[in-house]
Amino acid sequence: MNVDYSGKLKKLPPYLFIEIDRKKKEAISRGADIISLGVGDPDLPTPNHIIESLQKSVLKSANHQYPFGAGLASYRNAIATWYKKRFNVDLLPDEICALIGSKEGIGHIHLAFVNPGDVVLIPEPGYPVYNTGTIFADGVPYFMPLVEENDYLPDLNAIPQDIVKKAKLIFVNYPNNPTSSVATKIFYVKLVDFAKKNNIIVAADAAYSEIYYDENNKPLSFLEIPGAKEVGVEFHSLSKTYNMTGWRIGWVCGNKEVVAGILKVKDNYDSGVFQAIQEAAITALLSSQECVQNNRIIYKERRDAFVLGLQKIGWYVNIPQASFYVWAKAPKGYTSTQIVSKLLDEASIVCTPGNGMGISGEGYIRFALTVDIKRINEAVERIARIKY
Ligand SMILES: *Cc1c(COP(=O)(O)O)cnc(C)c1O
Repeated sequence: MNVDYSGKLKKLPPYLFIEIDRKKKEAISRGADIISLGVGDPDLPTPNHIIESLQKSVLKSANHQYPFGAGLASYRNAIATWYKKRFNVDLLPDEICALIGSKEGIGHIHLAFVNPGDVVLIPEPGYPVYNTGTIFADGVPYFMPLVEENDYLPDLNAIPQDIVKKAKLIFVNYPNNPTSSVATKIFYVKLVDFAKKNNIIVAADAAYSEIYYDENNKPLSFLEIPGAKEVGVEFHSLSKTYNMTGWRIGWVCGNKEVVAGILKVKDNYDSGVFQAIQEAAITALLSSQECVQNNRIIYKERRDAFVLGLQKIGWYVNIPQASFYVWAKAPKGYTSTQIVSKLLDEASIVCTPGNGMGISGEGYIRFALTVDIKRINEAVERIARIKY
């Protein structure tokens, strides 16, 4: 048989993190002692009370059937309770839909709203799935550069009017992967205004809302802005907050009709999230949030050791305000790809080339703080020994 992949599949760039994983495995097979700061996957375990909750739920036979639909009423109520407490935003059950990890919804929302030729506004550098979903829906991506001079916020005024007219959907992601920047209230107010004026759906990706470093300056929810619920939705995930990347659970919430559109796609594609996992997620959301605070303390210790260590040896690095990423400028004279190769070859450190997440990331690299403090210190020592 002559297997010919679809045009859409051929149009996709190679999935960045699978490439990085391949390179890492190659180096390991050569016997290298790799410190992996590449893929943003928490190394810390899921808290015990959440695991124990799953153990109980998995025994109930009522949980063994197709879950279907927007998720258990109890799961959506738990989300509403959590949201109210965290953001002081009220959500009704039909403003919430369970997702099989937020990636699933982020990748599928296009199918509900984007017609062939419609423009999707995408931040770059950014999470690759915004673009993947666009290609699968025959949409046209328009990339909004995130640059340091503009605090890594997209400049909405710089988008050409003819593009704005054709735009159906805009993605934003704060706290941001990969730049670790956070959105200001002023930016979100502008975004709501822009979306309303131009009839564009906002898809805010808040996967890192709970990984922050300043208790007095927590990341906002886009839905806190008056009028936000009229124009968009926010994606959330239990993956990063509770170290549950493997469990595949998240949600989308906000505008009722947008949520209904995503649900309609899902009804036709998948059959929902395993109910035992939804019940464990309820436990996660409604129990003490001390485990999340402990995560933040651990990431802060790693952040400080890594960033201060790199600054000491002359690297240009911003201190992240949120997320577990460090966005660093490559040393003078190096492209992203060159410094990533050098770090792998000469220090056995895996990191992500900034340009792999969008052209504006050229000259930067992303480190994920997903190894313990000993390895973080070891990484700094190894980087210090490299000769440029
Ligand atoms: C990790 C991540 C997600 C979602 O992860 P799920 O495990 O699918 O919930 C979404 N957006 C960004 C930017 C991420 O880094």
